[in-house]
Amino acid sequence: MSVLIFIDQTENHIKKVSFEALSYGAAIAKQQNIPCYGVLLGNVNYTLSELGKYGISKVYHVTDEVYNHFDTETYTKAIATIAAETNATIIVCSHNQSGKAVAPRLSVKLKAGVVAGATSLPDTSNGFVVKKNVFSGKAFAYVNIPTAIKIISLNQNSFGVTTSENGIAEVNTKQIPATAKVKVIAVNKVSGEVPLTEADIVVSGGRGMKGPEHWGILEDLAHTLHAATACSRPVADADWRPHHEHVGQTGIQVSPNLYFAIGISGAIQHLAGVNRSKTIVVINKDAEAPFFKVADYGIVGDAFEVLPKLTQAIKDLKG
Ligand SMILES: Cc1cc2nc3c(=O)[nH]c(=O)nc-3n(C[C@H](O)[C@H](O)[C@H](O)COP(=O)(O)OP(=O)(O)OC[C@H]3O[C@@H](n4cnc5c(N)ncnc54)[C@H](O)[C@@H]3O)c2cc1C
Repeated sequence: MSVLIFIDQTENHIKKVSFEALSYGAAIAKQQNIPCYGVLLGNVNYTLSELGKYGISKVYHVTDEVYNHFDTETYTKAIATIAAETNATIIVCSHNQSGKAVAPRLSVKLKAGVVAGATSLPDTSNGFVVKKNVFSGKAFAYVNIPTAIKIISLNQNSFGVTTSENGIAEVNTKQIPATAKVKVIAVNKVSGEVPLTEADIVVSGGRGMKGPEHWGILEDLAHTLHAATACSRPVADADWRPHHEHVGQTGIQVSPNLYFAIGISGAIQHLAGVNRSKTIVVINKDAEAPFFKVADYGIVGDAFEVLPKLTQAIKDLKG
């Protein structure tokens, strides 16, 4: 029996959500008193033995070049192979794009129950009960997984990253020839310099920005903070911004450390996509805007006056 954690990577680096998944998986292994391993597919610029500090004792590193690009089918097969080799009874991944694609497929392949979007450690006092968000974060569900193999995808920013000073993981390099019906030959990024789902900081604009011609001041703030840009749905519907920037219930769900909502009212459908952000800053000229109810910090003011001053203040601070 073991816990196996899927370590997600992109463009030669380990995604930050994976460090949280590692910490979470290691905590489950400790709770269950079983060993804890990681599986990484593809190549990264990272000294893999250092992953031991997140609590795993071994990393299975599948080095075939084909895994450098994410592909659901090949990834599922490779993780299932490592799961069999490690006798994994609990498989953990992040509830991000890759985790959402892989977890259900693994579940079918391994006849394993899956909880998608877990928010805390399982309660094993009576079964194996995992808490998760439902109804766009408006309620919780407690789900028991009765199957021998259990799969959990972890909601971002719900557990945190824990490290120990001196953990060193053994690195087990492997090759698993990929046999997929589809081959990823290239990935062309559509977003700007920071991918939205990976961003630490997101600067998001709504209809209060009045039109696409005003996005420059918002992009200036994003650029200064090395942040990704996002928008509300009506903004994307009106073609002010591309649809891949639309966040919310029907768009992308983000969970950055810092989310700026500028000229966005805070409708429930928008909040559904951003309410897992650690800190929310709202800039809105209407003090009664619903977004202020969930904001950690709020500025009541005209975005066209506030934004340039805020960006300048940050630039001054940064020197
Ligand atoms: C089934 C369904 C699914 C939906 N899914 C989504 C979704 O995924 N994502 C999403 O975003 N929406 C979604 N919506 C739409 C949602 O209900 C809201 O209509 C939408 O979020 C409102 O966008 P907004 O806040 O940009 O615009 P508005 O509601 O028009 O708000 C604009 C805000 O800007 C402020 N403002 C105006 N001028 C300024 C200024 N100069 N400076 C500062 N503030 C200013 C106003 O006070 C106001 O609060 C969905 C709706 C439905 C029915």
